[in-house]
Amino acid sequence: MSQTHHADRLDVPRFTREGAELSGSDALSKHERLILEALDPKAPEAQASPVTWQAHGEQLEDASGHVQHWLHLQAQTHLPMLCQRCLTPVLVEVSVDQRFRFVASEDEAMAQDDEAEEDLLVLSREFNLRELVEDELLMALPLVPRHEVCPGELKMSAKDDDFEQDDKQANPFAVLSSLKKS
Ligand SMILES: [Zn+2]
Repeated sequence: MSQTHHADRLDVPRFTREGAELSGSDALSKHERLILEALDPKAPEAQASPVTWQAHGEQLEDASGHVQHWLHLQAQTHLPMLCQRCLTPVLVEVSVDQRFRFVASEDEAMAQDDEAEEDLLVLSREFNLRELVEDELLMALPLVPRHEVCPGELKMSAKDDDFEQDDKQANPFAVLSSLKKS
């Protein structure tokens, strides 16, 4: 009879041995570090979009027959941020799809980090999965958040066509000299 698994203190060896799955949906506001990245943490979008995640444990054997503990994590949310192109709010989709391998100690993780393609974590019987979800989402945030197509862009390009004559006259040097005068 298998006991339930707890995301806040996951028994990793048992989780991988059972090939168990765990999923959750938490309010964004519960992720204190993530919500700090939001444009306006109190905005309805920030409240409405939950952090959803799924985790799957698995045990594999390496070439010499040693048990390896693996975790497959997927997580997604939407975070309201400020578009760096048009400086209006943009709802950024953030998602993570990552495989992790657990090793016995911090030292072992350091030693294997260079050659391992997967991310390494230290094996624990009280592993905080929610913290990992937040860590990974934070790392997946875009450095420069922006709209794929800014809402003002269509309007602006239409305007450019209409005022093509004016555009030609407004060359950078003319703008510069008018700035100097004022
Ligand atoms: Zn924009």
